[in-house]
Amino acid sequence: MDVPPRLVIDDGAIARNVERIIRTTGTPLMAVLKADAFGHGPQADVVLGAGARSIGVTTIEEALALRSSGTVAPILSWLNPVDADWAGAVSSDIDLAVPGLPHLFAIAGAAIAIGRPARVHLHLDVGMSRDGAAPDDWKTLMHFAAEWERRGAIRVVGVMAHLSSAQNPDDEETTVERMRFVNGCRLALRAGLRPQARHLAATSAALSRPDTRFDLTRVGAGLFGIDPSGRMELEHAMTLDAPIVSVRDVRAGTGVGYGLSHRTDRDTRLALVPVGYGDGVPRAASHRASVSVRGTRRPVVGVISMDQLVVDVGDLGVREGERAVVFGPGTHGEPTAREWAGWAGTIEHEIVTGIGSRIHREHVPVTRPEAVAGPTAVVGANR
Ligand SMILES: *Cc1c(COP(=O)(O)O)cnc(C)c1O
Repeated sequence: MDVPPRLVIDDGAIARNVERIIRTTGTPLMAVLKADAFGHGPQADVVLGAGARSIGVTTIEEALALRSSGTVAPILSWLNPVDADWAGAVSSDIDLAVPGLPHLFAIAGAAIAIGRPARVHLHLDVGMSRDGAAPDDWKTLMHFAAEWERRGAIRVVGVMAHLSSAQNPDDEETTVERMRFVNGCRLALRAGLRPQARHLAATSAALSRPDTRFDLTRVGAGLFGIDPSGRMELEHAMTLDAPIVSVRDVRAGTGVGYGLSHRTDRDTRLALVPVGYGDGVPRAASHRASVSVRGTRRPVVGVISMDQLVVDVGDLGVREGERAVVFGPGTHGEPTAREWAGWAGTIEHEIVTGIGSRIHREHVPVTRPEAVAGPTAVVGANR
């Protein structure tokens, strides 16, 4: 097999999404590159080059990996166990989200031990009962944060929260949660804190609710062409394609795959494509999915296996060695990650973050090199 199954990632599409989002929001952008940039691989230089001011990730490990590969822009890490490597994070100038008192004390202790203040963002839960401090705990958290700040252990540089229902721009819940956030920011001021960065909006709210933008937006999905609020035309950056390993001509009524859950309804040709649920092509999409062969949609037949799927290519005359596009931006009629998500009963996020390590990655670089070099240098110089 000359060119193996591969995921082609159009870095230029990501850069254009960044520019479009900043133009639309008029607000500094924290580019969220968690989970390997939603499965898109190294993208820090691309997003910073396109104008993002900082980077957001989940774990300290992700943040340190970015530092190791040369990222000098501010990085925030927001989800870590209470015994995480706080000293390592502070030494590497990683901002840390604080979701409650145990984390606050652990971070302050580590900062004192290494003699360097931790930059922290107080993380408030404004409704979704997930990460962040519960409203009943805000006052105590802020009281102790102010105390540790006075002692020089921490600097509270931000207050953050995450919205539960922003994918529906008209949902009243966003208004309620925004008010809770405003109230939380007020409490922080009253406790004597002076956070410069109040941030609430992720992709959906950033694009559809201007009143949630505050000092910066924390955008992940949108960078990669996903707008759950459906407000903006963004570009998908991924194309997954694979060679056809073999073809065979079969009679009408031939069973296909485990359990023979599909039988051909006519004489036809079947093509074998070597990707399956072990590579992140969801088995739940069986009996609904299609792929693109020679620019036309052909149905996936039988159940999707771990390593392979079968396509009914009909009378196209398809030969082994031709390629099947599993999904892409949709610009050439191929299925999109959104369609696969629909077939599998999930969301696009799960499709793009789920592509397995067995698939080769290829990046199409941003075509304007100066766009990568320029603003990155400015971010570095401003620090
Ligand atoms: C994932 C995440 C984001 C980014 O959300 P998108 O909808 O992908 O833009 C922002 N903030 C937090 C806390 C997150 O976990």
